[in-house]
Amino acid sequence: MSIPFAIYKENDDDPGERLYVTDIDTDSYRKKYKSNLYCPTENCDAKLVFVQTKPAQFRTWKLEDHINGCDYEFVRKGAKASRSAEEINVEMKDDHRRRVLKEALALARMSEQQIEDLRAKRKKWRVNKSPKTSKDNKEPKINIVTINGVDEEDLSGTTFKSRPVLKRDVDILKETDIGKHRCVTGYVDKVFEDGEKKIITISKKSKKLNVVFEEAFRANSPNFIGLFHHIIKYLKKHENAIFVGIGEVRLSKDEDNYELQVFQGEDFTIDGLNLNGLAALHANEQ
Ligand SMILES: [Zn+2]
Repeated sequence: MSIPFAIYKENDDDPGERLYVTDIDTDSYRKKYKSNLYCPTENCDAKLVFVQTKPAQFRTWKLEDHINGCDYEFVRKGAKASRSAEEINVEMKDDHRRRVLKEALALARMSEQQIEDLRAKRKKWRVNKSPKTSKDNKEPKINIVTINGVDEEDLSGTTFKSRPVLKRDVDILKETDIGKHRCVTGYVDKVFEDGEKKIITISKKSKKLNVVFEEAFRANSPNFIGLFHHIIKYLKKHENAIFVGIGEVRLSKDEDNYELQVFQGEDFTIDGLNLNGLAALHANEQ
């Protein structure tokens, strides 16, 4: 059973108002409604999220519980197993999004030697910290997020509070990444259009991948659609521009390559600049 509407309220004193999925889009959700949507059942204060699926829907916020007997108690169980990359993407906090993009760019700009040093440093640290009696150690294992064996904490200096996004260079993408939410990095080869679809081809070590911007992207970020020519302009002056983008990895139609579908304008950068940044750069040059 889907949740037909949510109660939007800013605080406990707020009587709240009914909100239907048609009243919201990804933009207004992120700017205004996020964290302020609740289950419509009386006395049930379970938080809800808005998910831009087709059709859009409300679902129970991760780890929130409905009161006993609430009609929507089971919605969460059903939703938990099959969260799509797009849903994960919509729930992602903006500062987390920016941090992931920044860290991926920092990694992409490192030399093999720097990455090697980082890896060595990490290994040493891990040896020092490892428990003396591994046999009797019953503590739960900690999963550490790595790219080519380098742990992300080394770059940020902090541990992740929110769900980690795995970073992948184009050349190390593999089958298990299909259908997953990933941050993908590569050099920009070209930008082109296929009907309404915008495509950026990126590559690394002769492995190529198309980054596609489709209907979901147009719906979420209409203001970014007219700005892709700024990438072409940028490429004329800059060699080896680095693309970093968060989205869903999938197989291309002919199934002989991977693709990355990006859902919104803030989810990718070219040399650290998003399309608005590139447009501003070009405006300043004139
Ligand atoms: Zn409820």
